[in-house]
Amino acid sequence: MKSIPALLLSALILSGCATHQSPTGRGQTLLFSSQEINQMGDASFEQIKKQEKMSKDSKLVTYVDCVANRVTQVLPDKSLKWDVVVFESEQVNAFALPGGHIGVYTGLLKVAENEDQLATVIGHEVAHVLAHHSNEQVSRVQMTGLGMQLADAALGAGGVSNKDLYMAALGLGTQVGFILPYGREQENEADIMGVELMARAGFDPSQSMLLWQNMAKVGGEQGPELLSTHPSHGHRIDDLSQMQAQVMPLYLASKNKVKNRCQIAK
Ligand SMILES: [Zn+2]
Repeated sequence: MKSIPALLLSALILSGCATHQSPTGRGQTLLFSSQEINQMGDASFEQIKKQEKMSKDSKLVTYVDCVANRVTQVLPDKSLKWDVVVFESEQVNAFALPGGHIGVYTGLLKVAENEDQLATVIGHEVAHVLAHHSNEQVSRVQMTGLGMQLADAALGAGGVSNKDLYMAALGLGTQVGFILPYGREQENEADIMGVELMARAGFDPSQSMLLWQNMAKVGGEQGPELLSTHPSHGHRIDDLSQMQAQVMPLYLASKNKVKNRCQIAK
Protein backbone atom coordinates (compact mmCIF):
# COMPACT_ATOMS: atom_id res chain seq x y z
CA MET A 1 0.00 0.00 0.00
CA LYS A 2 3.07 2.21 -0.22
CA SER A 3 1.94 3.77 -3.46
CA ILE A 4 -1.25 5.29 -2.11
CA PRO A 5 0.08 8.68 -0.98
CA ALA A 6 1.62 9.35 -4.38
CA LEU A 7 -1.56 8.31 -6.16
CA LEU A 8 -3.65 10.34 -3.81
CA LEU A 9 -1.52 13.38 -4.35
CA SER A 10 -1.59 13.10 -8.11
CA ALA A 11 -5.33 12.57 -8.09
CA LEU A 12 -5.80 15.67 -6.00
CA ILE A 13 -3.51 17.73 -8.17
CA LEU A 14 -5.16 16.54 -11.34
CA SER A 15 -8.70 17.26 -10.31
CA GLY A 16 -8.25 20.01 -7.78
CA CYS A 17 -8.78 19.32 -4.13
CA ALA A 18 -12.43 18.82 -3.42
CA THR A 19 -13.26 18.40 0.21
CA HIS A 20 -16.97 18.52 0.82
CA GLN A 21 -19.29 17.90 3.67
CA SER A 22 -21.87 15.20 3.55
CA PRO A 23 -25.46 15.94 4.65
CA THR A 24 -24.64 14.62 8.12
CA GLY A 25 -21.44 16.63 8.35
CA ARG A 26 -18.89 13.99 7.42
CA GLY A 27 -15.87 15.07 5.36
CA GLN A 28 -16.02 13.78 1.80
CA THR A 29 -13.47 13.80 -0.97
CA LEU A 30 -15.18 14.23 -4.31
CA LEU A 31 -12.87 14.22 -7.28
CA PHE A 32 -15.46 14.39 -10.01
CA SER A 33 -17.79 17.16 -11.11
CA SER A 34 -21.49 16.38 -10.94
CA GLN A 35 -21.51 16.46 -14.73
CA GLU A 36 -18.84 13.77 -14.88
CA ILE A 37 -20.51 11.60 -12.27
CA ASN A 38 -23.89 11.97 -13.98
CA GLN A 39 -22.33 10.82 -17.25
CA MET A 40 -20.98 7.73 -15.50
CA GLY A 41 -24.45 7.07 -14.14
CA ASP A 42 -26.02 7.51 -17.58
CA ALA A 43 -23.52 5.15 -19.21
CA SER A 44 -23.88 2.52 -16.49
CA PHE A 45 -27.65 2.60 -16.76
CA GLU A 46 -27.49 2.11 -20.53
CA GLN A 47 -25.20 -0.86 -19.93
CA ILE A 48 -27.56 -2.46 -17.41
CA LYS A 49 -30.54 -2.00 -19.69
CA LYS A 50 -28.64 -4.00 -22.31
CA GLN A 51 -27.65 -6.73 -19.84
CA GLU A 52 -30.84 -7.21 -17.90
CA LYS A 53 -34.34 -8.11 -18.95
CA MET A 54 -36.74 -5.22 -18.60
CA SER A 55 -40.17 -6.10 -17.25
CA LYS A 56 -43.09 -5.80 -19.65
CA ASP A 57 -45.63 -6.21 -16.87
CA SER A 58 -47.35 -2.84 -17.19
CA LYS A 59 -49.13 -3.15 -13.84
CA LEU A 60 -45.86 -3.69 -11.99
CA VAL A 61 -44.12 -0.93 -13.92
CA THR A 62 -46.95 1.53 -13.18
CA TYR A 63 -46.79 0.66 -9.49
CA VAL A 64 -43.01 1.07 -9.20
CA ASP A 65 -43.17 4.31 -11.23
CA CYS A 66 -45.82 5.63 -8.88
CA VAL A 67 -43.72 5.03 -5.76
CA ALA A 68 -40.47 6.26 -7.31
CA ASN A 69 -42.07 9.39 -8.73
CA ARG A 70 -43.55 10.37 -5.40
CA VAL A 71 -40.13 10.01 -3.77
CA THR A 72 -38.26 11.97 -6.43
CA GLN A 73 -40.89 14.72 -6.48
CA VAL A 74 -39.89 15.80 -2.96
CA LEU A 75 -36.21 16.20 -3.86
CA PRO A 76 -34.82 19.73 -3.68
CA ASP A 77 -33.52 19.67 -7.27
CA LYS A 78 -36.62 19.76 -9.46
CA SER A 79 -34.69 20.11 -12.71
CA LEU A 80 -33.51 16.50 -12.85
CA LYS A 81 -35.88 14.12 -14.56
CA TRP A 82 -35.65 10.60 -13.09
CA ASP A 83 -36.31 7.53 -15.12
CA VAL A 84 -37.38 4.28 -13.55
CA VAL A 85 -36.94 0.78 -14.92
CA VAL A 86 -38.23 -2.52 -13.52
CA PHE A 87 -35.96 -5.48 -14.23
CA GLU A 88 -37.23 -9.03 -14.43
CA SER A 89 -35.00 -10.79 -11.92
CA GLU A 90 -35.20 -12.81 -8.73
CA GLN A 91 -32.64 -10.53 -7.11
CA VAL A 92 -33.90 -8.75 -4.02
CA ASN A 93 -32.33 -5.49 -5.08
CA ALA A 94 -32.70 -1.95 -6.31
CA PHE A 95 -30.35 0.89 -7.14
CA ALA A 96 -30.28 4.57 -7.99
CA LEU A 97 -27.65 6.19 -10.18
CA PRO A 98 -26.38 9.72 -10.62
CA GLY A 99 -27.98 11.40 -13.61
CA GLY A 100 -31.42 10.34 -12.39
CA HIS A 101 -31.90 6.61 -12.89
CA ILE A 102 -33.68 4.10 -10.69
CA GLY A 103 -33.69 0.34 -11.18
CA VAL A 104 -35.93 -2.03 -9.24
CA TYR A 105 -35.74 -5.82 -9.55
CA THR A 106 -38.97 -7.78 -9.43
CA GLY A 107 -37.47 -9.95 -6.66
CA LEU A 108 -37.60 -6.95 -4.35
CA LEU A 109 -41.36 -6.69 -4.80
CA LYS A 110 -41.79 -10.01 -3.02
CA VAL A 111 -40.05 -8.61 0.06
CA ALA A 112 -41.27 -5.02 -0.01
CA GLU A 113 -44.90 -5.84 0.72
CA ASN A 114 -46.53 -2.46 0.15
CA GLU A 115 -45.91 1.02 -1.25
CA ASP A 116 -44.37 2.25 2.00
CA GLN A 117 -41.84 -0.58 2.12
CA LEU A 118 -40.89 -0.09 -1.52
CA ALA A 119 -40.50 3.64 -0.82
CA THR A 120 -38.11 2.73 2.02
CA VAL A 121 -35.76 1.06 -0.44
CA ILE A 122 -36.12 3.68 -3.17
CA GLY A 123 -35.64 6.50 -0.64
CA HIS A 124 -32.50 4.81 0.64
CA GLU A 125 -31.04 4.33 -2.83
CA VAL A 126 -31.88 7.86 -3.98
CA ALA A 127 -30.28 9.17 -0.78
CA HIS A 128 -26.99 7.48 -1.72
CA VAL A 129 -27.00 9.57 -4.91
CA LEU A 130 -28.15 12.76 -3.22
CA ALA A 131 -25.40 12.53 -0.61
CA HIS A 132 -22.78 12.10 -3.36
CA HIS A 133 -21.89 8.62 -2.17
CA SER A 134 -21.43 7.50 -5.77
CA ASN A 135 -18.94 10.29 -6.36
CA GLU A 136 -17.22 9.41 -3.10
CA GLN A 137 -16.92 5.74 -4.11
CA VAL A 138 -15.63 6.44 -7.59
CA SER A 139 -13.17 8.92 -6.09
CA ARG A 140 -12.01 6.22 -3.69
CA VAL A 141 -11.32 3.90 -6.60
CA GLN A 142 -9.41 6.66 -8.34
CA MET A 143 -7.34 7.57 -5.29
CA THR A 144 -6.34 4.20 -3.97
CA GLY A 145 -5.97 2.06 -7.02
CA LEU A 146 -8.45 -0.09 -5.16
CA GLY A 147 -9.74 -1.25 -8.46
CA MET A 148 -6.55 -3.08 -9.27
CA GLN A 149 -6.69 -4.97 -5.99
CA LEU A 150 -10.34 -5.76 -6.43
CA ALA A 151 -9.85 -6.88 -9.97
CA ASP A 152 -6.99 -9.15 -8.94
CA ALA A 153 -9.01 -10.63 -6.13
CA ALA A 154 -12.22 -11.07 -8.05
CA LEU A 155 -11.09 -12.02 -11.48
CA GLY A 156 -7.72 -13.61 -11.08
CA ALA A 157 -5.62 -13.04 -14.16
CA GLY A 158 -8.54 -11.76 -16.21
CA GLY A 159 -8.70 -8.02 -16.63
CA VAL A 160 -11.46 -5.68 -15.66
CA SER A 161 -12.32 -2.56 -17.60
CA ASN A 162 -12.50 0.88 -16.07
CA LYS A 163 -16.15 0.89 -16.95
CA ASP A 164 -16.75 -2.23 -14.84
CA LEU A 165 -14.83 -0.70 -12.01
CA TYR A 166 -16.91 2.43 -12.02
CA MET A 167 -20.07 0.39 -12.22
CA ALA A 168 -18.99 -1.52 -9.12
CA ALA A 169 -18.19 1.78 -7.43
CA LEU A 170 -21.64 3.08 -8.32
CA GLY A 171 -23.16 0.18 -6.39
CA LEU A 172 -23.72 -2.08 -9.38
CA GLY A 173 -21.67 -5.02 -8.18
CA THR A 174 -24.04 -7.69 -9.43
CA GLN A 175 -23.66 -6.57 -13.00
CA VAL A 176 -19.90 -6.81 -13.05
CA GLY A 177 -19.29 -9.62 -10.59
CA PHE A 178 -17.57 -7.88 -7.72
CA ILE A 179 -18.75 -5.63 -4.95
CA LEU A 180 -17.41 -2.32 -3.84
CA PRO A 181 -19.50 -1.85 -0.74
CA TYR A 182 -20.61 1.44 0.67
CA GLY A 183 -19.20 2.18 4.09
CA ARG A 184 -21.21 1.92 7.26
CA GLU A 185 -21.36 5.71 7.58
CA GLN A 186 -22.70 6.02 4.07
CA GLU A 187 -25.32 3.38 4.79
CA ASN A 188 -26.35 5.12 7.95
CA GLU A 189 -26.60 8.43 6.11
CA ALA A 190 -28.71 6.86 3.36
CA ASP A 191 -31.04 5.39 5.99
CA ILE A 192 -31.47 8.71 7.76
CA MET A 193 -32.05 10.68 4.57
CA GLY A 194 -34.13 7.94 2.97
CA VAL A 195 -36.63 7.69 5.80
CA GLU A 196 -37.03 11.45 5.78
CA LEU A 197 -37.60 11.45 2.03
CA MET A 198 -40.26 8.77 2.25
CA ALA A 199 -42.04 10.61 5.06
CA ARG A 200 -42.06 13.85 3.07
CA ALA A 201 -43.49 11.92 0.12
CA GLY A 202 -46.37 10.70 2.29
CA PHE A 203 -45.16 7.16 2.89
CA ASP A 204 -45.48 5.71 6.38
CA PRO A 205 -41.95 5.71 7.86
CA SER A 206 -42.84 3.07 10.47
CA GLN A 207 -42.98 0.60 7.56
CA SER A 208 -39.23 1.03 7.10
CA MET A 209 -38.66 -1.19 10.13
CA LEU A 210 -40.96 -3.88 8.75
CA LEU A 211 -39.13 -3.78 5.43
CA TRP A 212 -35.82 -4.56 7.10
CA GLN A 213 -37.46 -7.28 9.16
CA ASN A 214 -38.73 -8.82 5.93
CA MET A 215 -35.26 -8.53 4.46
CA ALA A 216 -33.81 -10.34 7.44
CA LYS A 217 -36.27 -13.18 6.92
CA VAL A 218 -35.26 -13.66 3.30
CA GLY A 219 -31.68 -14.48 4.22
CA GLY A 220 -29.49 -16.39 1.83
CA GLU A 221 -28.51 -14.97 -1.49
CA GLN A 222 -29.49 -11.36 -1.58
CA GLY A 223 -28.53 -8.43 -3.70
CA PRO A 224 -25.17 -7.05 -2.69
CA GLU A 225 -26.16 -3.40 -2.35
CA LEU A 226 -29.18 -4.09 -0.23
CA LEU A 227 -27.98 -6.77 2.09
CA SER A 228 -24.57 -8.26 2.24
CA THR A 229 -22.82 -4.92 2.46
CA HIS A 230 -25.33 -3.32 4.74
CA PRO A 231 -25.26 -2.95 8.50
CA SER A 232 -26.85 -5.71 10.52
CA HIS A 233 -30.62 -5.65 10.39
CA GLY A 234 -30.99 -5.37 14.14
CA HIS A 235 -28.75 -2.34 14.31
CA ARG A 236 -30.45 -0.66 11.42
CA ILE A 237 -33.95 -1.32 12.77
CA ASP A 238 -32.92 0.17 16.13
CA ASP A 239 -31.65 3.29 14.40
CA LEU A 240 -34.80 3.60 12.33
CA SER A 241 -37.02 3.19 15.36
CA GLN A 242 -35.15 6.01 17.05
CA MET A 243 -35.83 8.21 14.05
CA GLN A 244 -39.59 7.70 14.04
CA ALA A 245 -40.37 10.58 16.41
CA GLN A 246 -38.51 12.93 14.12
CA VAL A 247 -40.00 11.84 10.79
CA MET A 248 -43.56 10.96 11.83
CA PRO A 249 -44.61 14.66 11.86
CA LEU A 250 -43.32 15.00 8.28
CA TYR A 251 -45.44 12.05 7.27
CA LEU A 252 -48.54 13.32 9.08
CA ALA A 253 -48.14 16.69 7.38
CA SER A 254 -47.78 15.21 3.91
CA LYS A 255 -49.99 12.13 3.86
CA ASN A 256 -53.28 13.94 3.31
CA LYS A 257 -51.84 15.84 0.37
CA VAL A 258 -51.05 12.64 -1.48
CA LYS A 259 -53.43 12.29 -4.41
CA ASN A 260 -52.19 9.00 -5.76
CA ARG A 261 -51.84 5.93 -3.60
CA CYS A 262 -49.65 3.38 -5.30
CA GLN A 263 -50.99 -0.12 -5.75
CA ILE A 264 -50.48 -2.99 -8.10
CA ALA A 265 -53.64 -2.97 -10.20
CA LYS A 266 -55.66 -6.17 -9.95
ZN1 LIG B 1 -27.25 1.32 0.81
